[in-house]
Formats: sequence, structure tokens, C-alpha cells
Amino acid sequence: MAIGGMKANARNIETDPELKMRLVPILADEKVSYFNMINRAKAASCPVKDRFDFSLDLEEPLKIKNPNIENRIRNSCIMGKWDRIAVEIFNYNSYEEFIEFELNNTTFFGQILFKINDEMIKILNQVEKDLIDNQAPGYKAPLANSTLREKSGMHGWGMAIDFDVGMNPYVLNEKSEGELDKVLIGAYDNIAKLMLGKNESDLRKLKIGRTAFGNGSIGDVYDILREESDAMKRYFLLMNDNIALQEFIETEWAVKNPDTNPPDFAAIKAQMENDYRILGGKTDTGNVWRTETREDPPFAPNSMGGTGDPATGFLNLRKEFVEAMVNSGFAWGAIDISGEPGDIQHFDLRLQGVGARVYDLLLKYK
Ligand SMILES: [Zn+2]
Repeated sequence: MAIGGMKANARNIETDPELKMRLVPILADEKVSYFNMINRAKAASCPVKDRFDFSLDLEEPLKIKNPNIENRIRNSCIMGKWDRIAVEIFNYNSYEEFIEFELNNTTFFGQILFKINDEMIKILNQVEKDLIDNQAPGYKAPLANSTLREKSGMHGWGMAIDFDVGMNPYVLNEKSEGELDKVLIGAYDNIAKLMLGKNESDLRKLKIGRTAFGNGSIGDVYDILREESDAMKRYFLLMNDNIALQEFIETEWAVKNPDTNPPDFAAIKAQMENDYRILGGKTDTGNVWRTETREDPPFAPNSMGGTGDPATGFLNLRKEFVEAMVNSGFAWGAIDISGEPGDIQHFDLRLQGVGARVYDLLLKYK
């Protein structure tokens, strides 16, 4: 049915119940396929000249046919946040156009990176230059794993990059994993207490931000995280070495805890094995977490890049690399992504320039 004909009929249906009964399902189907067609044609900004009238005319029959149609249309077409941001900030008609025309490839320490925003290319070039000038001409950067992931946070705009994901997992505060976090933090606390003599893990402070660490510099944040990561490595090495564990308790531990009785050896071993499993380590019985819940522990083989072995620690990026990235303008996922810090592998441009504008709108448009 031609659009003009549908509009005319839609206006008449209120005065003609029989016509209405016949037309409602037809109109509803027409409208659904019409919007599907618009989407498929990559015209997500809905370039239909009279679309406002058209929507109003068909509103009532559409509601009768499908009460959720308004949401569906709003989400799928006119109001999709990815399209809105592509229009408002980058002047494209749609998100798909943005992906096709705005993003470019670059190299970073010899690695080819695909589909990146030009501002990020500039900043990565700067990081490369800094590290080569200040470290060594042959400086080796970590493996870059992931840049563009469509419709996924700052990755969705070619303004985020992940490094060496198997060795730098999302340790805590991952979206929708609050229940898992309650258990994870217990494991991090156990490690910080036994190995470092702390009262609890400093990962608890990530949500406060940089100021909670030392003098608030990114170097101080790094040092404290790195110390806990190295402690984790050692904790799980000791788990598999009874002699070394016994010796550790009698010497290093005893020095740090002069007024406390040494922990029960069997209880500590059991705690270590439990923590290993909680963090996503592979066990004889497999990864029980994944089958019980949708949440994935940091080291679980099914988590992004997870190696299944918490004995590798959670931070192997080098300090000067993290500092060079942050000094050039990147937010570090470990500490700078408010609300969800703990993403050690992740860097993005939410703190500055066009990245900050995009990030604001990502929060604003749900
Ligand atoms: Zn990331």
C-alpha cells in the first residue's frame, strides 16, 4: 500500500468502525515493515520528509496492534543513542555512516590498528614518540587486542583500546557484576592480608579514584596495584609449594605479624584454593562459576582473554607505558572510569576533547 493511501485511510478509520477493523492490522504490519526497511537502508535518522505526520496518523492503530511499538520504533530508529551521537557530534546521518567514513587505520609500534578515531590516532602517535624518545628506539609496546567494538562504550567510537587482555583482566566493578564483586573482594583481601600485611585490598579504593592512592599520581596508583598483582602471583605459587609456604609463614609473615599466632597451615591452603577458584582459575572440576551464573570472574577462560590462571597476576603493563598513555590524555580503565574502575587492560578518551563530549552523551542518552 502506498504511504499516501495509508495516510488517507488512517484518517478515516475513526468514523468507520468496519474499515478500522480491516485496516488496523494492515496498517500495523505496514508500519513495522516500513521502519524495518528504513533501518536496513542505513537511514537510521529516518529521512522521510513527512515522518512526523506519518507517525501521528498511525499511532492509534499501531498501539492497538502492538502496545510496545512506540518503544520499538524509538529504540530502533528515531531515538537510538548511537545514531543521535553520530548526528550531533560527528555530523553523519547514522552510526553506520560514522563507522564507515569516520574511522581510519593506523600503526602503533608496528602493530596495525583498525578503525580508530583520528584524535586517538594522533594521541597514539604521540605516545609512541614519547616512549621511543624517553625509553629506547627499540621500545616494545604491549600487544593491542581490541579497538573498535560496535556499540560498546567508548570502543564503539574508535576511541578506546585494550592491551594484553589475558594478563590484564577486569578485576572488579564490571557492569552488572555486583554479586560477583562481593566474593572477589574477599579473595583480594585475603591476598593483601597474608602477603602484604594490609588490613584489606586497595582494590576497594578504586571507586574513589586516583586521589585514594599515595599522592594521587598515576604512578602511585600503578605502584600500589602492581604490588597487589605481584602479591597475587606469589600467593598462588605458594599454594602449590608446601615447603615455600611454610617457610614464608615462619619468616616474612612472622616479621610482619609479630604479635599474632601463625595461621593454620591447612586452613591457609584451603583458603588459597578457594580464592583461586573464585578468581576464575581452572580446577579439576572445571570453572564452576560460569555454569552457575552469567557473571564471569576475571581470570575465567570464558572471560575476555582470561587465561584460567590467577597465578599470572592482574597487571603486567609496564609503568612507563601506563604513564605515557595517561600523560597523553588517555583515561586508564583501572582507575579513571568512574563507577566501573578495575578494567586494567583498557584505555579510552573520555577525559578530553571530542571523547569527553561523546562520553557525556553516552551517559545522557540511555
Ligand atoms: Zn576496553
